[in-house]
Amino acid sequence: VLQRLMKAEKLEIVSHLAASISHEVRNPLTASRGFMQMLQEDEKEPAKKRYISIAINELDRAKEIIDDYLLFANSAPERNEKMNISEEIHHVTHIMTPLANMNGVAIDFTFDEEVKFFVMGERRKLQQCLINLFKNSIEAMQNGGTLTVKVTKEGGTVIVDIIDTGCGMTQEQINRLGEPYFTTKEKGTGLGTMVSFSIIHYMKGKVSVSSVKGKETCFSLEFPLCE
Ligand code: ADP
Ligand code: MG
Repeated sequence: VLQRLMKAEKLEIVSHLAASISHEVRNPLTASRGFMQMLQEDEKEPAKKRYISIAINELDRAKEIIDDYLLFANSAPERNEKMNISEEIHHVTHIMTPLANMNGVAIDFTFDEEVKFFVMGERRKLQQCLINLFKNSIEAMQNGGTLTVKVTKEGGTVIVDIIDTGCGMTQEQINRLGEPYFTTKEKGTGLGTMVSFSIIHYMKGKVSVSSVKGKETCFSLEFPLCE
């Protein structure tokens, strides 16, 4: 018991640390990127222009890691609370709209305020989980498409289907989902699904994935319904 306790304490320290790193590092990154961009605009020499562009790319990469992994890492653990899952999805679709627009992706989700399916968890963690999955779906549709999100209830379970008309995955790729640093993207971190899966697990949920390579993917999340 003592050992387990120590492990839990260590995890909490790590989570505190992650939160402050995320917060403290994000601002200087943004500031540096801004100045780099100004330098790049004024720079005439092609070689130097290229160096600056590499530096900007590296800053973007660091930001990606923070976004996938630490965006909502919180200094004080949030309370477990009852959440209306559709409301959280609705919120996240707003956050993701700019990225969707950039990729020519339409988000198909109808928020019905009458339908209330409650789940237990920490709000920001659930949002991080959804953001990472929505982001992957949108990134899978480089030439546009539709991201469909459906919420249904089946007995004591709430099911969230996240369906895209993107590049799809092979069985081998599906098997590797959630593995840290597994990525097929040039600028990927390979942390997004790992974080999402661990949040789902922590909420006592389940996830299953089905996909047709070159055609579509569906992430199906199941959470215990909270009456
Ligand atoms: P990253 O997005 O940084 O690559 P993730 O852990 O979020 O890392 O995703 C890992 C990999 O899983 C992606 O690189 C991609 O190959 C695959 N993947 C995840 N979601 C989808 C999806 N909706 N459609 C196609 N491939 C996906
Ligand atoms: Mg990702």
